[in-house]
Amino acid sequence: MNDIFTIGCHLSASKGFLDMAQTALSIGANTFQFFTRNPRGGQAKAIDPDDIRQFHALAEENGISVILAHAPYVLNACAAKDDIRNFARETMADDLQRMEHVPGNYYNFHPGSHVQQGIDIGIQKIAGILNDVLFREQQTTVLLETMAGKGSEVGRTFEELHDIMEKVQWEDKLGVCLDTCHVNDAGYDLNNNLDDVLTSFDKIIGLDRLKAVHLNDSKNPLGSHKDRHELIGKGTLGETTIRRIINHPVLRDLPFFLETPNDISGYQKEIQLLKSWREER
Ligand code: FE
Ligand code: FE
Ligand code: ZN
Repeated sequence: MNDIFTIGCHLSASKGFLDMAQTALSIGANTFQFFTRNPRGGQAKAIDPDDIRQFHALAEENGISVILAHAPYVLNACAAKDDIRNFARETMADDLQRMEHVPGNYYNFHPGSHVQQGIDIGIQKIAGILNDVLFREQQTTVLLETMAGKGSEVGRTFEELHDIMEKVQWEDKLGVCLDTCHVNDAGYDLNNNLDDVLTSFDKIIGLDRLKAVHLNDSKNPLGSHKDRHELIGKGTLGETTIRRIINHPVLRDLPFFLETPNDISGYQKEIQLLKSWREER
């Protein structure tokens, strides 16, 4: 069985899909993540059929198998105010339509912040938005990101993610993106109990739902609920834990996306480093 290390980083989407794929390949990546529009919201760039066609050709030629779109992080699918929730619904619905131009990929979003409404209301509202925007024919898998638990963020625990997903009609269109900085900050001990964390993920959500990893070190200690990403190997997780993560039998075949504080040459170096840490199966 051929053993492919799928690794990429977050790129600017300003010049389109072909440009992102070219940039990814130029830094040794074979995938990438991008914001579907300005991370603070706003209009998305029009889809250019030429760009999509050239992207698909380049992707096929170079083995770019799956890419990850990231929803703007200001979306709050469980806001108390209707207009904020409407904005989240419209943005996600529009993004999912656009993603059909690059079928078979992933769309990641932050579940939201319940801001004093309580976790149960938060969970219900997020599931409600997903029920509004998912559709039978869609070819995109929507990923809920594991959150650090900053403020009133929903999705700090595997239980919360499970409780959202089980309320969604097209549950088979859903998956989870595990952010290693966020789960550390949420209180899951990757340094000492990686196996137990994955076992608990399996019991509560099911490992078949785990589709991608945001590979980040953390500036803050276990359970700090902060969400400050650190360079690979330079934070709380450190080289030993990151090495275990990228080689773990449960995780190694997933796509890994760096969201570390880097410019493009910094990403290139981290990708090189991670490739040197990757072990034969
Ligand atoms: Fe994110
Ligand atoms: Fe992330
Ligand atoms: Zn983060």
